[in-house]
Amino acid sequence: MSALDVVNPATAETIASVPNMSAEEVDEAVARAKKALPAWLDATPKERSELLYRLAQILEDNAEELAQIESRNVGKPLMVSRDEMPFSADNLRFFAGAARNLEGKSAGEYIKGYTSLIRREPIGIVAGICPWNYPLMMAVWKLGPGLAAGNVQILKPAEQTPLSLLRFVELARDVIPEGVLQVVTGDGVPAGQRLVEHPDIGLVSLTGDVATGKLIAANAAPTLKRVHLELGGKAPMVVFDDADPEAVAEGIKIAGYWNSGQDCTAGSRVLAGPKVYDALLEHLVPVVEAIKVGDPADGDDVEMGPLITREQQERVLGFLERANGASIVVGGATHGERGWFVQPTIVTNVGQEDEIVQKEVFGPVVTVQRFADDDEAIRWANDVPYGLAASVWTSDVARALNAVRKLQFGTVWVNDHLLPITSEMPHGGYKSSGYGKDMSAYSMEEYTQIKHAAFKLS
Ligand code: NAD
Repeated sequence: MSALDVVNPATAETIASVPNMSAEEVDEAVARAKKALPAWLDATPKERSELLYRLAQILEDNAEELAQIESRNVGKPLMVSRDEMPFSADNLRFFAGAARNLEGKSAGEYIKGYTSLIRREPIGIVAGICPWNYPLMMAVWKLGPGLAAGNVQILKPAEQTPLSLLRFVELARDVIPEGVLQVVTGDGVPAGQRLVEHPDIGLVSLTGDVATGKLIAANAAPTLKRVHLELGGKAPMVVFDDADPEAVAEGIKIAGYWNSGQDCTAGSRVLAGPKVYDALLEHLVPVVEAIKVGDPADGDDVEMGPLITREQQERVLGFLERANGASIVVGGATHGERGWFVQPTIVTNVGQEDEIVQKEVFGPVVTVQRFADDDEAIRWANDVPYGLAASVWTSDVARALNAVRKLQFGTVWVNDHLLPITSEMPHGGYKSSGYGKDMSAYSMEEYTQIKHAAFKLS
């Protein structure tokens, strides 16, 4: 069996090694899942709910250890990884409740002489393929609805960041029925690809890059597998002239630089009104310059860590090098002697067609554009291939409502960005950001299929 080195991106040191599984090893996991499925299909909603409550408790009881692992493996500040643990536990508790609340139409006589009823049934074996930016939380967003709906599941963490999910499942070993929830580790190809192609798997849910999503949709087609895609983003923050520039600057600090900007909903494009633009930059520049960057192991006050890999660091710096004519107002370079850091960066003088405005950078880089009027603001905000999240900053309710209506994004926040997410509300994209919803009752629907049964009355 070959192995994958796992690296701490803040130091570039190898911290662990995990199996780099072959297609045959993935097949063995699928065979175990198949064996586990009949008994799990017989579990009542209450029993499925109880498993999820136990998992939530295990996550909560071990939150500090899991946050430390996640911090070392992703290079994220402890304030970031600690913040995810109670939320992830809450996600699991939400799905524990949802397991007992699946809804459908009432049974009734829709055809004369027949009674119809609807059954909402699990799909069977489902697979979840996870990204490296929120390794445990993204896995939770898949396993919560997957198990609650009555499926058995196989998860594949990103090759860079398997440690927190592996530890969580190890901690929960005694409560998870054999074969009901498994983790396979390895590269996208072959391990991920085998999950996508395996004929016994009924659904694959990916959180990842747009290119990976397109490939997975194509590779899932021959087996007509259901596909759930949570892909990239390029979130605009539309700042109208009546917004408070100081509050917006604080909002951008979180939206643009949380987790080093490696967030699919990161506020990476600020579109500011003609009157507020200068005041906003005046507030924003010192806020971004003051962000404490460093190895998360150096202390709880570190606010921003490195990027995940050297390739990602080079990719982000490449966007800055190619941004001809743009002005780098803050940052723009690496940070420190080791690890894969990029300084928090603000870029101005960019055009709507520029690569740095159109493509997901996935790093601590925020562009700021000045729009002429509300119509241009909405046009520019929508004028990217992505449609995951957006925010609007204004004190005018009508303006906010109008923007919410016109913005082509799966989430629109008003006077905040990034933080207002909750287990009850769906998260998912429009356009190239994919399809399918995470969290909320809507994600339970993704993991179920509908059966109509009709009974002749005489
Ligand atoms: P990635 O697409 O490179 O990898 C994601 C996962 O897909 C990994 O587990 C990888 O091993 C696997 N994979 C790669 N190729 C595969 C293949 N051919 N078949 C099957 N599996 C394969 O993405 P990443 O670099 O880990 O994550 C960053 C991306 O994820 C960004 O674009 C970001 O916007 C996106 N993201 C989206 C959301 C969301 O909710 N929409 C959330 C977090 C991250």
